[in-house]
Amino acid sequence: MLVSVSTTRRVFLLAATGLVLLGLRRGGSFRPALATEGGNFEIAKTEAEWRRLLTPQQFEVLREEDTERAWSSPLNKEHRPGVYRCAGCGLPTFSSETKFESGTGWPSFWAALDDSIRTKPEGIEYFYPRTEVHCRRCGGHLGHVFNDGPPPTHLRYCMNGVALTFEPARAASSGN
Ligand code: FE
Repeated sequence: MLVSVSTTRRVFLLAATGLVLLGLRRGGSFRPALATEGGNFEIAKTEAEWRRLLTPQQFEVLREEDTERAWSSPLNKEHRPGVYRCAGCGLPTFSSETKFESGTGWPSFWAALDDSIRTKPEGIEYFYPRTEVHCRRCGGHLGHVFNDGPPPTHLRYCMNGVALTFEPARAASSGN
């Protein structure tokens, strides 16, 4: 009986250790591109100014780091070519070329446009690292990035649709 209890405990401890190591390994496998950044932003507004500019839901996500309800954004079903801009300042942040179906209920991308975002590690939740994604220009909170995305980057930018505005690409040859 004693042996049985002891064995059970050992198995449990081994499993727990494995989970911790898995969490650490995943946390350490981020790419250099996800370095901590912070500081001042090019566009700075007071809380009152942002409240005037944004809808209440946009304000909650962009300025108070809330997360929209899964499957609530019309952008989940947006499949046209075009550009996704920060809803706070209009900076282009994602291209339709990197959008993919993640099955999470949030618009997802495997890359951000060059020099459009800043990231900030948020710590590990449930053995899973969460890194915040903010607009490079206004500091607006757009969502999170995880390292379980598809090739070629293996990143998954999990975005709040309410924090983005979509601009469809114009027809390649407008004469037709
Ligand atoms: Fe912005």
